[in-house]
Amino acid sequence: MESVSSFNVSAEIIIVGAGLAGSTLAAVLGQQGRRVILVDPRPSCPQVFKAEKLDVDQVQLLRKFGLLERLVPYSGRWNEVRLGYDGRIFKTLRVEQYGINYADMVNALRAKMPPVGRLPTGACRTHRQQRPRTARQAQRG
Ligand SMILES: Cc1cc2nc3c(=O)[nH]c(=O)nc-3n(C[C@H](O)[C@H](O)[C@H](O)COP(=O)(O)OP(=O)(O)OC[C@H]3O[C@@H](n4cnc5c(N)ncnc54)[C@H](O)[C@@H]3O)c2cc1C
Repeated sequence: MESVSSFNVSAEIIIVGAGLAGSTLAAVLGQQGRRVILVDPRPSCPQVFKAEKLDVDQVQLLRKFGLLERLVPYSGRWNEVRLGYDGRIFKTLRVEQYGINYADMVNALRAKMPPVGRLPTGACRTHRQQRPRTARQAQRG
């Protein structure tokens, strides 16, 4: 994934904001063969405290989208949550959860997107099978 060098790129879908939502959407649509441009002022996600774990529902969704495996190397998994009170454990829940840093998660999703160049106003990312044609290339046919 790189920045684009001109505005002469085409896409079916432009996603503004390459946080977890935008990066996940771009990855899913890209897997479906859609030509997507993902725009964000930052070339990579900075270290911010915006998440410390993936909960059960999120794990299920990411697995369904085929994206969980990308994130597992950056995470730590736990399978059990124990609920306690006054020194006594009264319930044990079986779970599948992952501790993960937000920037690691977003950058892992962004990293799978092929490069295309840089827009003057900031970073622009695209997820597609082939590099976009410039307007000049399109004129040539
Ligand atoms: C303290 C804290 C702890 C949290 N813990 C968890 C957790 O443990 N598990 C969990 O699942 N969720 C957690 N959350 C929630 C999680 O952080 C959000 O659900 C998630 O960040 C939402 O992702 P997003 O992509 O919508 O937004 P963001 O992550 O905010 O991404 C927005 C993106 O848009 C870009 N952007 C902004 N303006 C523009 C613009 N004008 N043009 C282009 N791009 C732009 C930004 O650069 C950024 O990359 C936590 C949140 C906080 C604050």
